[in-house]
Amino acid sequence: MSDCIFCRIAGGEIPSTKVYEDDEILAFKDIHPQAAVHFLIIPKRHITSLAEVGAADAPLLGRMLALAPQLARELGLQDGFRTLINTGRIGGQEVAHLHLHVLGGPVPLGPMLVRQ
Ligand code: AMP
Ligand code: ZN
Repeated sequence: MSDCIFCRIAGGEIPSTKVYEDDEILAFKDIHPQAAVHFLIIPKRHITSLAEVGAADAPLLGRMLALAPQLARELGLQDGFRTLINTGRIGGQEVAHLHLHVLGGPVPLGPMLVRQ
């Protein structure tokens, strides 16, 4: 059993509120939303952070990024959203499995997000 929480979510061992799933990618609601809509897009395969990716991962990363607007629209974010990837200690990454945050809602998010 993996000790990575997002691997365990991807494997169905830990429940999540799923937004999207295919062979390679899972998207689910963030458990501590920082905006009215806040979900995460992850690769099912364990990649520790954006610092670990290389050219071979470009198609997967491209697919993750291209999913953001599609899923944002499906969740009612018609007028924009924010994407964010925290990386490593300096980037404030808390879960060591690559994830793309997508945030939005009815009111502008402001210049930057401050974690509550
Ligand atoms: P980061 O600081 O970029 O690593 O963000 C990790 C995110 O994962 C935070 O926004 C957490 O609220 C979220 N998170 C942690 N555990 C879970 C979980 N079990 N289900 C959904 N989101 C989670
Ligand atoms: Zn993992």
